[in-house]
Amino acid sequence: MRFVLERHQQKFNPAFYQQVNKLLIKTRVRSASGIVPVSVFTNGVGCPFNCVYCSNEPDMPKSYFSDEPAVMRAIRNHFDPYKQVQSRLQMLYLSGHSLDKIELIIQGGTFSFYDKPYREWFVRRCFDAANTNVAKLIKTGNTTVSKSIYLSQAQRKNETTSQRIIGLTVETRPDFINPKEIKFLRTLGVTRVEIGVQAPDEKILKLINRGHGLKEIVYATKLLKNAGIKITFHLMPGLPGSNYRKDLKMLREIFQNPNYKPDNIKFYPTSVVKYSKLEKWYQQGNYQPLDEKTLTKLILAFKKTIVPPWVRIQRLVRDLTVNDIVVDSFPSNLRQKIETELKKQKIRCQCIRCREIKSDKKSTRLKLEILTYSASDGQEYFLQYIDSQNRLYGLLRLRLFDNQAIVRELHVYGEVNPIGKRDQAKTQHAGLGQNLLYKAEQITKKHHINQLAIIAGIGAREYYRHLGYRLKNTYMLKSWQ
Ligand code: SF4
Ligand SMILES: [Zn+2]
Repeated sequence: MRFVLERHQQKFNPAFYQQVNKLLIKTRVRSASGIVPVSVFTNGVGCPFNCVYCSNEPDMPKSYFSDEPAVMRAIRNHFDPYKQVQSRLQMLYLSGHSLDKIELIIQGGTFSFYDKPYREWFVRRCFDAANTNVAKLIKTGNTTVSKSIYLSQAQRKNETTSQRIIGLTVETRPDFINPKEIKFLRTLGVTRVEIGVQAPDEKILKLINRGHGLKEIVYATKLLKNAGIKITFHLMPGLPGSNYRKDLKMLREIFQNPNYKPDNIKFYPTSVVKYSKLEKWYQQGNYQPLDEKTLTKLILAFKKTIVPPWVRIQRLVRDLTVNDIVVDSFPSNLRQKIETELKKQKIRCQCIRCREIKSDKKSTRLKLEILTYSASDGQEYFLQYIDSQNRLYGLLRLRLFDNQAIVRELHVYGEVNPIGKRDQAKTQHAGLGQNLLYKAEQITKKHHINQLAIIAGIGAREYYRHLGYRLKNTYMLKSWQ
């Protein structure tokens, strides 16, 4: 239907076109945070380690299964980055989404384990795909296919194209993070790194055969923050050697100990999955996963008493099918069940995801609140625009350390507002972003620091240029006396 609508757009009256277009956005939640996420997978060689809980399905990226929707898409496209991004963008476009702002998420094991030429090629082809206009292709059946020779060329083009990659996420291990690796990640345009932390406990890390300890987690967290990169910790309640009490204690530690304090977390409650060592431990009676009741209790306690307002819970459970798991310890709709329980117990989760405004009715009375906390030998400032119900309209993360200042995130929530257009009903581009940045500059000046750097996604660079920032060593920079 969308296809017909686009091809014959001129024949319809504009009001009718807009109405149908709205109806076609079935999965509004995908772009409710203002950005469309596009996940792609690297090919299946990506990790030499053997964590006991990790699946190792033949020919699949480590830790993923061939029947997961995003993996199936990658298989259909033979793990080709260009085809994966293009097919996803076309699908999103056909379901009515704006493709102005894209968050590219590269999955498939340990990204840092792949050699540099492969990684550079992979990212370059993703940018090429984003630089190939999907709307034009669908409307006319024809478009200019973008094919760059150098990554920098593809990135430069993306700075001003209509489908901009404004964030790039990769997943890796803490022990692969060092200054050289960070420098390389920045040349690729990486703005967020997801690291497998699993459990902040030396004994457990050893038992699950992680191959690194706490020292590496602390070091990686600090280096990433100092580079302005946003961090997601993967956490696994219910690991061997843990129990409810220990899990709760570890979750507290993650947000009380300044050596951790990630920006986002993803829960991966330990499941006994096929092709894993844990499968054998379970069959031998040496391991038992957390049951649904205990896991629910843990997550409710976390949401009620631990999660700070500057954290986004990106994921509560992983969607696995019955084909992938050995024991069905909790249902796949656990998230919904927890939501119901939260309502019943009148618990309001403070996290970003639960507070962001999405497409709800907006208030015109907003206040700017500044929260500060110490983390990884620096001071973090979390600036947020909220209304009287504590709903979140925009946020900025500013980090001060060693006489330097860096903005690690600037995000205005609400539905995607196409670049260059203003719509009073939508929050994006309503000046909140500029105000947040102005405040960050004031804080920086107050601390006698004479320049502010911003880790901008490639596609966001233009936005900052208009605000007086210039590109220097992959960061947008503004200096003053
Ligand atoms: S590092 Fe990650 S991908 Fe590699 S074995 Fe461990 S969990 Fe699996
Ligand atoms: Zn929440």
